[in-house]
Amino acid sequence: MLVERIWVGNTGRNFNYLVACPAGGEALVVDPYDGAQCVAAAKANGWRIAQIVNIHEHSDHIAGNATVVAATGAKVLAHAQAAARITGIDRTIGHGDVVAVGSSVRLEVLATPGHTPAHVCLLGSGAAPALFSGDTLFNAGAGNCRAGGDPAIL
Ligand SMILES: [Zn+2]
Repeated sequence: MLVERIWVGNTGRNFNYLVACPAGGEALVVDPYDGAQCVAAAKANGWRIAQIVNIHEHSDHIAGNATVVAATGAKVLAHAQAAARITGIDRTIGHGDVVAVGSSVRLEVLATPGHTPAHVCLLGSGAAPALFSGDTLFNAGAGNCRAGGDPAIL
């Protein structure tokens, strides 16, 4: 599994992630904020973006969807409970689902409600495991619930 972390430089201090299959270069974008930056990074690596996963529905995790879809035709994946706030979901995902990226990368979907009811994490296992935790974890602690979440569930 190849991973590129992209600092977007916004006030929310977000990162975008590209996850790619080393065999063939198919890629997935996690939470595009700056879609053009994601498309450019994939192109620079020789990767082809086929999917987007929105970890949850807040605007700083979905703002770049339209740009990435327009440039690549990528399919949009998100939890069904996020459908009212994310336009153009092609596949709903939930706990236990697996998102394949190319022939060698498998990301397990973990339901992690609390920050929002629709929040999920992606767990990639294997030789270089990685957890894409979105707003479940922040630098200073667990995710806040001020924008639609539930502290008891978190
Ligand atoms: Zn959020």
